[in-house]
Amino acid sequence: MRIVSYSVDDGEDYGFMASNNEFVPRYFVEEVLGHGIPKDVKELLPDRELLELIEAAVNGVGLEKVSLDSVHLRPPIPDPRKIICLGLNYMDHVEELGAETPDDLVIFLKPPTALTGPFDPIVKPRMVEQLDYEGEMAIVIADRCKDAEPSEAIYHVFGYMVFNDVSARDIQFKDGQWTRGKSFDTFAPTGPWITSREEVGDPHSLRIITRVNREIRQNSNTGRMIFKVSSIVSGLSQVMTLEPGDIIATGTPSGVGYSWRPEPRLLKPGDVVEVWIEGLGAIRNQVVEEPRP
Ligand code: MG
Repeated sequence: MRIVSYSVDDGEDYGFMASNNEFVPRYFVEEVLGHGIPKDVKELLPDRELLELIEAAVNGVGLEKVSLDSVHLRPPIPDPRKIICLGLNYMDHVEELGAETPDDLVIFLKPPTALTGPFDPIVKPRMVEQLDYEGEMAIVIADRCKDAEPSEAIYHVFGYMVFNDVSARDIQFKDGQWTRGKSFDTFAPTGPWITSREEVGDPHSLRIITRVNREIRQNSNTGRMIFKVSSIVSGLSQVMTLEPGDIIATGTPSGVGYSWRPEPRLLKPGDVVEVWIEGLGAIRNQVVEEPRP
């Protein structure tokens, strides 16, 4: 199953992908099932029984479909309770930074207001000089969990999506920690949809590629993660209660802009950043200058 969130002139909703360019809106499926489907996608994620009914209905014949081109795509989870990000979780990224291999999770939080849609602009704030990309795979949590054992943690994962952990390096390095430099509005493009865990299969065998203006900058595989999905979810759940729709960005591979030599290759207005993950689709965001007040 793949879940997509969108807006049209008269409102916002979500639906279920029926092919790579068509989806079935939530309320069409409601009509077929003859009962309600939560309007808030976070409330649907823990409901395994309803999800199975929806999947059968979407795969059945005769349901009306809507073209993706006729809607504006939003972040698949438009208002998560939290976004947790991992730092230093790819061996190739640790090596390019000359950092020590972490022996535990390195985490920080991004505010939900940083989210933006899969094809929406990344706004470069006037106060930021060193804007950078970080292509990442994000986990979407299915249901509430605390102190999950590594062996059961995977069952709390609903699925995966593409994420760009946009970062202001000048502010990040000046502050000596990550919050401010990674929290600006539009610094978390996500999408284009959530692909369920069942459909993805092994989350550690996926190619991940970031392009800037079509040129490959990051080229890795989710198999190179230091901490895998099960230990990430288990480890985070020792700290905080994870809730339906929570987003966990799992870290970026090598090739981020500031690590390029001899010169860093940072983002400037007009650049188009695309992050593609095998089986999860691609997000594409153009950098624009913050408008003058
Ligand atoms: Mg990151």
